[in-house]
Amino acid sequence: PVAVLGSANADLVVTVGRAPGAGETVSGHGFTTTVGGKGLNQAVAAARAGARVRMVATVGDDVHGRLLRDTLAREGVDTDALRVHPGLPTGTAHITVEDDGENRIVVVPGANAATGAHPDDLRALRDRPPRVLLLQLEIPVPAVVAAARAVAPSGTRVVLTPAPVPRGGLPGDLLGQVDLLVPNQHEACALAGTGDLAEAVRWLLRRVPEVVVTLGARGCLHATRDGGHTVVPAVPVTAVDTTGAGDVFAGVLAVALAEGSPVDGALRRATAAAALSVTRSGAAASAPRRDEIDRAVRP
Ligand code: ADP
Repeated sequence: PVAVLGSANADLVVTVGRAPGAGETVSGHGFTTTVGGKGLNQAVAAARAGARVRMVATVGDDVHGRLLRDTLAREGVDTDALRVHPGLPTGTAHITVEDDGENRIVVVPGANAATGAHPDDLRALRDRPPRVLLLQLEIPVPAVVAAARAVAPSGTRVVLTPAPVPRGGLPGDLLGQVDLLVPNQHEACALAGTGDLAEAVRWLLRRVPEVVVTLGARGCLHATRDGGHTVVPAVPVTAVDTTGAGDVFAGVLAVALAEGSPVDGALRRATAAAALSVTRSGAAASAPRRDEIDRAVRP
């Protein structure tokens, strides 16, 4: 089993010819509500990839919280550790997309800010330790550190997507708890404070034993502390929407590792799944199912 501790949001997307200026009101032409948050996206991708997945997250006692719970349950994600915070709204992302494609986003973390702050959140991980724990940084960093610590005695593999990179970098006590770091190229360079990817990877490998840097349409780079380096090329596809590609990649990678796949096979599955996801629109919605991934990895 895989556990995901992280963010869950309702994405409220408005399409409009031109976004209003201060004090101005304009008429939009579309509105949709979708689910999002890196935590939720990774959990859905992992569940579709065929694993038993538990989501540890916090929502508000509101319509968006119920939407997130229902969506996760429909995707087969275990929501027993999805906590309702009575005093905070469910996390929301308010996204305005103009006709020229320009977008503006306001994220209100709401209940996500309370994830990890309740003893039940860590107890859920300690009492039923997962094979793999997937973490990201859209919840308070101390909660992420505490979650990694909580599973340390159980031999759980801790996988961190370090996004968004906090201003001031990551606390050293977090990277020390991570078994596998999965940044994209920008995140790897931001963490290491350099524009040079090779230098960034060397910096990261002094702090974590294993790194997979995702490189967009160029695939990914796997590097270990003992000096192994492999590049897995991306599957060539016509990209329609790359939103959430990294989350699908991480979710599918976690499932393959939890099932005991060697890392090269796990990376091939993650790469194939992420390529399928960029051919469709949406983040969690674009994650492929297990049989599609199986067909894509078999030549
Ligand atoms: P993020 O979405 O976090 O920025 P990337 O852009 O690096 O992460 O994408 C994650 C993975 O998704 C890549 O390693 C690659 O396997 C796959 N991917 C992304 N963009 C494309 C693309 N245009 N074609 C094929 N695969 C892609």
